Amino acid sequence: MKLLDRLRAFSQKHAIENSESLSPLGAVIEDLYSATEGSINGRRTILVGTNNYLGLSFDNECINASHQATRNFGTGTTGSRLANGSYSSHQALEQELGEFFGLPQAIVFSTGYMANLGIISSLVSPGDTIVLDEHCHASIYDGCKLSGANIIHFRHNQAQDLEKRLRRLGEQAQHALIIVEGIYSMLGDRAALQELVAVKQKYDALMLIDEAHSLGVLGETGRGLAQEAGVEEHIDFITGTFSKSLAGIGGFCVSRHPELNIIRYASRPYIFTASPSPATIASTRAALSIIQNRPNLRHQLWENATTLYNGLQSMGYELGPEISPVIAIQVGPREEALSMWQKIFDRGVYVNLVLPPATPDSNCLLRCSVSAAHTRAQLDVVLDAFAYFQDKLPQQQLA
Ligand code: PMP
Repeated sequence: MKLLDRLRAFSQKHAIENSESLSPLGAVIEDLYSATEGSINGRRTILVGTNNYLGLSFDNECINASHQATRNFGTGTTGSRLANGSYSSHQALEQELGEFFGLPQAIVFSTGYMANLGIISSLVSPGDTIVLDEHCHASIYDGCKLSGANIIHFRHNQAQDLEKRLRRLGEQAQHALIIVEGIYSMLGDRAALQELVAVKQKYDALMLIDEAHSLGVLGETGRGLAQEAGVEEHIDFITGTFSKSLAGIGGFCVSRHPELNIIRYASRPYIFTASPSPATIASTRAALSIIQNRPNLRHQLWENATTLYNGLQSMGYELGPEISPVIAIQVGPREEALSMWQKIFDRGVYVNLVLPPATPDSNCLLRCSVSAAHTRAQLDVVLDAFAYFQDKLPQQQLA
């Protein structure tokens, strides 16, 4: 009973059970019309919180590839690769990821969450140290916890603070793993990668970058922030997900180190779970090829991100520090944030409501993620929905 009491207290604290209206944690999409529009609560709604950056979830090539794979290989793999064996398509995708990044080693995981869990927990052990940016994603934190290593945070994007912490480690810094993200999922800002890599080089540590939100989004060929910043040769491990630009489900790690392959035999989140389904591998392979062949999608994404960011900024909203496909809007206290989220939904727009402790600094956020598939007309509806609040919110909520 005590355990269940605790769950009920959790539910009250986080206002999870909200019977009379739509809950931000429980929206049900009854129908999807495209990558950017669906039906929620019986209402046609523009989706601006999907992370579907390139809009590929409805791409014909991806859909046809997954149909074909289901016909040929069935609906599921029904087990782990170590136990049941790999499908040739798992290996083909690993080969293609390696070629895409120009790196010799790649491992596919069942989700991006598991990629971080599996890689971090196999690389470092109790007695080692992980130094991670404080804004890192929960999957990175969970991977750190699973590893049993010492965990040290450095101040968000502050290379000097990273250096201070490595200096304090002395000799041990050489055995440290530094973890950062390409684009941070909460505020949409890029890691200050050149400066962070310079510190990493100075202390001879290893660096892992999670390019979950930057794959297909940044870099000349869409490889992410490390490519854009020109530091790929200094990165030891890149993790990422298939669930954003690649519009599927799954995760990966690529590396220049041959030792990555050994992780397959050591990583519990790789070994003890079913491998990705044939359909998801096939659509991901198609999407990876589209990232390389249709750079116009990336250009359109940035045009859309710029339109939305500039539009919201000109209304006076306080946004994340730079233009990005992840646009975080600082809103007031919890009750007002909930009410604003609801009213925006009433105007036919679904954005993510992010409440503490998931937010970086105890502020509530409305988080938009822009897609290349958003039309200008849809972006105008989103801007109109936010414009409604311009003169209604207390001044301190606007920048
Ligand atoms: N890393 C980051 C930075 C993320 O934002 C996410 C998901 N939001 C993940 C990893 C996990 O990816 P997945 O959805 O594939 O588990």
